Amino acid sequence: MLETPGKTQSGSAPSGLRTLLTRQHTPPPARKRSFVTAFDVAKLGFFLFGFPRNAFGSIDVTKDCNLRCSHCYFFEGSEGAAPAYEATPQLAVEAWIEKLEHLKATTSRVDFPFFQCTWVGGEPLMRRQLIEQGRRFFKYNTVVTNGTIPLPDWPDVSWYISIDGDEAIHEEIRRKKGIYAKAIKNVADHPALSVTIAYCITRANAHCLEQAVIDWAAAGARHMTFDFYTPIGDMCDGDDSLFLPLAERDVVLDRLLELKRIYGDFFVLPERAFRLMKSDISRQVTDNCLFSTKAFAFGPDGVQKEKCMMGPKADCDRCGCVVPFYLASLTDRRRIAQDLGQEFVRAARSAANGVVTAVLD
Ligand code: SF4
Ligand code: SF4
Repeated sequence: MLETPGKTQSGSAPSGLRTLLTRQHTPPPARKRSFVTAFDVAKLGFFLFGFPRNAFGSIDVTKDCNLRCSHCYFFEGSEGAAPAYEATPQLAVEAWIEKLEHLKATTSRVDFPFFQCTWVGGEPLMRRQLIEQGRRFFKYNTVVTNGTIPLPDWPDVSWYISIDGDEAIHEEIRRKKGIYAKAIKNVADHPALSVTIAYCITRANAHCLEQAVIDWAAAGARHMTFDFYTPIGDMCDGDDSLFLPLAERDVVLDRLLELKRIYGDFFVLPERAFRLMKSDISRQVTDNCLFSTKAFAFGPDGVQKEKCMMGPKADCDRCGCVVPFYLASLTDRRRIAQDLGQEFVRAARSAANGVVTAVLD
C-alpha cells in the first residue's frame, strides 16, 4: 500500500504494484498560479483549432556537451563528436540571429508564429550567448540542460534539467560522479526560477524513479516530467538494452498515475498524456506525430532536421518522447471531453457528499 504521511489515500494500488510503491511520499506544497495564463488561452486555441505549424520547436544550440550519457540520441551513444554533425560546422551565433531575423521578416505569423522554442543540444549552456540573444524572438522559451552548469538568472525561461535515475544510477549512466548533487544544488540555489526535472525512463532506472521524485520535490524543483528512452537507429550497435518494452512501460505508467494522484501539479503532465503513452494507444499517437508534422527542429548547423528533435533515426514505433503524447493530450477532443465529464461527476459527487454530511451534522 502506498504510504502518504498526513494524507488519506483514496484508492489503493493494484496488488502487483504494491511492492514497488513502498516509499514515504510527501508532496511539495502547491504553488500559487494565476487563474488563467496566456499559455492556457493558447491551449484553448489548440483544442478548438488544432496546432498552427511551427508554433513549437527546438534549436540545437551547440554540438558540444560536457557529458557523454550512454543513451544520448544526439551523440548516439558515442564517446566522441555527434556523428550527424561531425563534419559540419555549427552555425555562429551572429548567423543564427540573422537566420531568425530573416525568418521573421519573410514568413507570416500563420506560417511561423514564433510562439515557443526549446533550446537543446548538446549542452545548451556551453553556448549561452545564443540563447541570450535568440530567445527574444519567441514568446515562450525552454532550456533543457544537464544541470551541471550554474543556471543563469533568466526568470522568463522554463528550465528543464534532464535526469536519468537516482543519484547512483544517474551518475552511472552519465559516467560522472558528483553531478546529481551538483544539479540539486543548482536548483536549490535558484528558488525563483521555474525548474522542471525531466526523467528519461530506461530499463536501467525504472526501479528508482520514486527516489528521484522524492529528491527533487525536496530540492525545490517546480515540476517533474517523464519520458521513456527511444531507440535510435543502430545506436550502440543495435544494443537496445535501455529500451523498456511496451508491456513493462505500461506497468511504470500505472505507477506514475498512482504518484500523480499524490503529487498533483508537481507532475506537470496531465493524466491523459500518461494514458496516451499506454501500449494500446501509443501507436495511434506516434503514427500521427504532431511533433513531426507541426514543429520545427533545427540542428546546430541551422538546418531543419528530419523527423523531429531526435533526428531521422529515431524509432517512431517505440518512441517514448513525451512531446507527441503531450501535444496529443491537448488536442484529443474526445478524451478531453471524457476527462471533463469525469471531473464534473467527481465534483458533483463531492458536493453531494458535502451536503449530506452537513445535513447529518
Ligand atoms: S547531457 Fe544531454 S546532451 Fe549531453 S550527453 Fe547527456 S543526454 Fe546528451
Ligand atoms: S520519434 Fe517520436 S517524436 Fe520523433 S517523429 Fe517519431 S513519434 Fe514523433
